[in-house]
Amino acid sequence: MPGDLHSDDREKNYADDRSTAEGAGARHVVPLRAKQRIEVGLLGATGAVGQHFVRLLAEHPWFHLTWLAASERSAGRRYGELPWRLAAPLPEEIAALPVHMLRAGSGPELVFSALDALVAGECEAEFAGHGHCVVSNARSHRMDPCVPLLVPEVNPEHLGLLPRQREEKGWRGALVTNPNCASVGLAVALAALRPFAPRRVTVTTLQALSGAGYPGVASLDAAANVIPYIDGEEEKIETETQKILGTLKDREVTPHPVTISAQTTRVPVLDGHTEAVSVELGKPATREELLAAFSQFSGEPQSLGLPSAPLKPIVTHTRADRPQPRLDVESYAGMAVHVGRLRPCPVLGWKFIVLSHNMVRGAAGAALLNAELLVARALLTSLHQTNVTASAGR
Ligand code: NAP
Repeated sequence: MPGDLHSDDREKNYADDRSTAEGAGARHVVPLRAKQRIEVGLLGATGAVGQHFVRLLAEHPWFHLTWLAASERSAGRRYGELPWRLAAPLPEEIAALPVHMLRAGSGPELVFSALDALVAGECEAEFAGHGHCVVSNARSHRMDPCVPLLVPEVNPEHLGLLPRQREEKGWRGALVTNPNCASVGLAVALAALRPFAPRRVTVTTLQALSGAGYPGVASLDAAANVIPYIDGEEEKIETETQKILGTLKDREVTPHPVTISAQTTRVPVLDGHTEAVSVELGKPATREELLAAFSQFSGEPQSLGLPSAPLKPIVTHTRADRPQPRLDVESYAGMAVHVGRLRPCPVLGWKFIVLSHNMVRGAAGAALLNAELLVARALLTSLHQTNVTASAGR
């Protein structure tokens, strides 16, 4: 029986979650020793998402951030000379790094991208063409039929698109993307309901200001207000979710047939996208069965014990006033998807609230988890000669 998120649980970080998973007898990846950490680069290192990457990579057990790039506005300066907007301290080692221009072929094999979508399309393709493995946040390539739109708990098999990508694009490297910050929470929640065949969904989002980047929405527009429009967001939620839940066959993803109608709003919350979801299921289910489906949902990151994987992808709440962004979004290091207020819907059958951290589960943390899966499956060229990956789950 699912329970509320207890205060002890809220204080867990991913390391605690991981040790608990191992204690429960889960399969896990052989941890890399510190001296074996894989060098990684970061495109768009100076932006809102870029800074979260820096924060999360500072203590990452597998990855070592050694190379940064951004626009010509920032290139040529030390990272520490540029504005740092997070409460977490900027690590001295990173502050001393120079910021480079975006030049494919320079930097490590594995690069994360937090680039503005206006430049990400061309730039990421160029990096992949030069042999980099690009793990991107940007929307530019998400719906490309050759590019995995990956949520490791939901569709790890979509990495099967990479051989086709290499053939069709002629890239020596690879490109993997994570979903839009509002698509990921919905996709994880609906993945848990796949046994009950979701058919039709309505979702209304209340999205945090940080989702608009920096400086984002003007304070005079945002304060004490709700803005009922986010450019392109509704289409992304509707189509990305179908692709994520889709079926891979013969190197092609057939989108899931669920019909989704999204309405998106921007609200004066700092971090955390809340979503009010109604769903029509193709198979009958009781409330207890649905709660169990949410709370028992798990995937390859959990069985492999990947460093950024939360113990449980979905945290269920039974208190009527939860989840809330301010109280819940940082738990499980921002990587859990929160589901609460499950109740009958007189129109579609069932309705509930979803909450996820747009800068972590919807951006930097999602990309880290994707890269960890690539490492675990030995999909980086430089890992072909090493013995650091798990044999499980390939
Ligand atoms: P942001 O704060 O505006 O940062 C954009 C980054 O791109 C900066 O590092 C910037 O470098 C760089 N850049 C901009 N124009 C460039 C150019 N012409 N050449 C080279 N670099 C350039 O945006 P963000 O919120 O961090 O978002 C980054 C990406 O992640 C976007 O594609 C966004 O859609 C996606 N995303 C965001 C969220 C979220 O919740 N914020 C969630 C999921 C995905 P300079 O500082 O040097 O200008």
